[in-house]
Amino acid sequence: MTIKNNIVRYTQSLPPGCALIAVSKTQPIEKIQEAYAAGQRAFGENKAQEMARKHEQLPKDIQWHMIGHLQTNKVKYIAPFVHLIHGVDSLKLLTEIDKQAGKNNRIIPCLLQVHIAEEETKFGFSIHEVQELLRNDALSNLNHIRIIGLMGMATFTDNMEQVQKEFRSLKQFFTTLQNQPLPKQVVMQELSMGMSGDYEIAVKEGSTMVRIGTSIFGERNYASVNLQ
Ligand SMILES: *Cc1c(COP(=O)(O)O)cnc(C)c1O
Repeated sequence: MTIKNNIVRYTQSLPPGCALIAVSKTQPIEKIQEAYAAGQRAFGENKAQEMARKHEQLPKDIQWHMIGHLQTNKVKYIAPFVHLIHGVDSLKLLTEIDKQAGKNNRIIPCLLQVHIAEEETKFGFSIHEVQELLRNDALSNLNHIRIIGLMGMATFTDNMEQVQKEFRSLKQFFTTLQNQPLPKQVVMQELSMGMSGDYEIAVKEGSTMVRIGTSIFGERNYASVNLQ
């Protein structure tokens, strides 16, 4: 399968309410150009400098999604152009995004990452911590961010029942938030869940954005990436 075929296949098979984020982390410019030529405009990266470098080299109508764990000292590299930051997992990070967005005279859309997996290693807020954040007065001073939804990663397992249970719990929490009063910077519109191995379940459970890398571009070759 070529990259072009993969893009076309995903675009046609995803339901209308679900966007395809082509995860291009570690992939060379030429592969991204191939996906771009097939009509793909939303790309996901997980390293700030790599994203900034690719943004410079590629067409400016690409929407860049930061899907990885973002360190506060790296926000400045992507603040001028980033389309959506998926993995916000602390008030500290949100505050820095607000600051850098302000410097660039823009409002940066963000998703709160919620920890739904069993593994300890995955980043994210607990459901309780999200509720705490939404009640935090500090949020009302942040005028250059919008929280537009939630992001989650399921446990890396072959047990698809467990994956389904985790996605379902995130969707349930998403719905709960939609039905409660929210601060003015918050609107629950997007639910980013699903990767190459589990996107079909995620879509069934109500995902509005799937983040697909390997099954579009092939395996990642970490050794070939120059992260400078
Ligand atoms: C790498 C990555 C993906 C894509 O994973 P694939 O298995 O290659 O589809 C999705 N989401 C996040 C957060 C990632 O880091």
